[in-house]
Amino acid sequence: MVSYADLYLMPAVKRRAMAAGLHRSLGIPKRVKIYLDNGAFYFSSRGIIVNPKEYEEFVSLAKPDWKPIPQDFIPSPKMSVRAQRHCLTKTMFVNNAYEHDGFVPVIHVSKVLDEYINSIKANTRLASKPDIALGAIVPQLLRMPKAQPYQDILNNIREARSSFADKKLHLFGVGGTATLHLASLMGMDSVDSSGYRNRAARGLIQLPGSGERAVIELGSWRGRKLNAAELKKLRNCSCPVCQLNGIKGLKSRGLVGFCNRATHNLWTLLEEADWIQKRRRDKTYKDEYARHLDNTIYRRLIDHVVENFI
Ligand SMILES: [Zn+2]
Repeated sequence: MVSYADLYLMPAVKRRAMAAGLHRSLGIPKRVKIYLDNGAFYFSSRGIIVNPKEYEEFVSLAKPDWKPIPQDFIPSPKMSVRAQRHCLTKTMFVNNAYEHDGFVPVIHVSKVLDEYINSIKANTRLASKPDIALGAIVPQLLRMPKAQPYQDILNNIREARSSFADKKLHLFGVGGTATLHLASLMGMDSVDSSGYRNRAARGLIQLPGSGERAVIELGSWRGRKLNAAELKKLRNCSCPVCQLNGIKGLKSRGLVGFCNRATHNLWTLLEEADWIQKRRRDKTYKDEYARHLDNTIYRRLIDHVVENFI
């Protein structure tokens, strides 16, 4: 995933991407699909309005494999229903304006999700699109004030899944190992997150089946330390960083340490996704997930979804 917000903050990188294409300018092989995040979370929280023509020009030249509409307006859980509906009106205006050329429409986990679904279905061109993206889960998972109960969030995701059964559903902002399990169990086709990089910047690493752990104290950031079992798990990590430098590489400071932890975290997420997909294919997930997953805060939810939805 590449964020348009990051490119907005790095004009030289953006220019290179427009000149040579995202794949070439970032050194990413063509077989790796590049999903573009429109940066709505960044722009919304700062009240910045994206110039849609600039975004259109960017995507036509930089050629990401997947692109959402130029901007969506993310409702926060603490907003009134009326304010959430105002976000819907603004987002649907952009969805309707970009019903063409492969732009993926965006809808939000919110108290007005059913209105989003009806609005998409009311536009035959939007209704016939092969993809749809579901956003606004981050403020809910971060438990911002007045976040919806977990059960309501699951119901929202389930409603979106069943309403758009024929479409590929992408969930923005899912990058923890446990939430990856939830996304897969709820039938999401793809997810993205910059969480693996944000964690790396705070000295945190991810482990298979566990929450994040601190390997180094950076500034005022603190996190749960590794216990003996987790340390053992980490010593067996097969990511390129751990293979080359062991845990020492993850504890490095500066840019090298950040890159090492980000690489390890992304590797861990991809391995976790493989672990889930393989067991879901073999129909062994139900027997094995309990042993694999630590007691994460999402464990009760995962139990609930396994029990009721799969
Ligand atoms: Zn590793």
